[in-house]
Amino acid sequence: MPPIDTSTPARDRLVHGLLGWGQPRPQVPPGLARDLLGILENGLAELRPELPDVAAQHRGGRVSITKTTLDRFSCDGLQLAPAPFEHTPANVRGVLAHEAIAADLAGARTLTSDELVAAVWHDAASRRPGDPRSRSAWINRLPAADAVVMRAEVGDLVETFREVWPPLPPEAVHLRIDRAVEIPLAGRRVVLRGAPDLVIESRRDDDRARSLLVDLKTGRPRAEHDRQELRFYALLLTLHEGRPPFRWATFYVTEGRSEAEELRPEVLESIARRVVDTVAQLVRLHGVAPDAPEDELRLAAGMGCYSCLRRPGCSVAAAELDAVSG
Ligand code: SF4
Repeated sequence: MPPIDTSTPARDRLVHGLLGWGQPRPQVPPGLARDLLGILENGLAELRPELPDVAAQHRGGRVSITKTTLDRFSCDGLQLAPAPFEHTPANVRGVLAHEAIAADLAGARTLTSDELVAAVWHDAASRRPGDPRSRSAWINRLPAADAVVMRAEVGDLVETFREVWPPLPPEAVHLRIDRAVEIPLAGRRVVLRGAPDLVIESRRDDDRARSLLVDLKTGRPRAEHDRQELRFYALLLTLHEGRPPFRWATFYVTEGRSEAEELRPEVLESIARRVVDTVAQLVRLHGVAPDAPEDELRLAAGMGCYSCLRRPGCSVAAAELDAVSG
């Protein structure tokens, strides 16, 4: 193994913990990718009578399953009536930090954090400035003093990341950053989509699982949500590459720590079943109005209530709130 900088306790923890540098890797479970594909295709085949009509109503004639669609599976009301996405200081800062860290990883640390942030900021502000709903327009409307603060915060996140992550030797690993993956299923009537933040691939090629999947988070940890999102990416990667990662992890940039899960086929099988269940939910809800009566839906309160348009009149969310507040 080429040397890697472990000169601080934080880097040492990352290298020997999360990266597992120089440690043995698990064997690829035989037939795992094929079995996962079987779970997906067999489950979707049961939806075949309705699926073509439902898919025809979706954009591009395909039901698109992303981490967001899966997240909304928890409640029919949320799946039907999600609040529209809004740019906020927290999510814009998060996106900019992601982009700056991605550029840092791709550019092998040749720029200072200030230079990185300036380049990312300029790029983000110039993409679609004429569209008033775009992130570019939001950034361009930011008062100058707020922009200074946000740039400093993004710079701090990059510095925090750098303190914990040493440069990774290119002769040992190859980095795939934000690369989109698409898995067509059910005769292209369903497509799974996602772009994992970071996949660290070993240069060695044998019968071992050797890639590490990392999702970078700059916001507050949401353990269950973050875990499901990551498992979905691990499923995508396994189907795309024909072999699973040896580990998948959420790295919380602000805290400089990670939550990881080791390769276990049953975890990937369970997220594959959740994908099928989510497509079944979309088929079942096809043609149902966003304000359909509660007794026609399967509702479950949770974190999703905060991004659901039905929340003001929802008895299930109100009951949950009462229970929590005692
Ligand atoms: S407010 Fe919560 S429980 Fe009610 S429909 Fe929305 S997500 Fe479901």
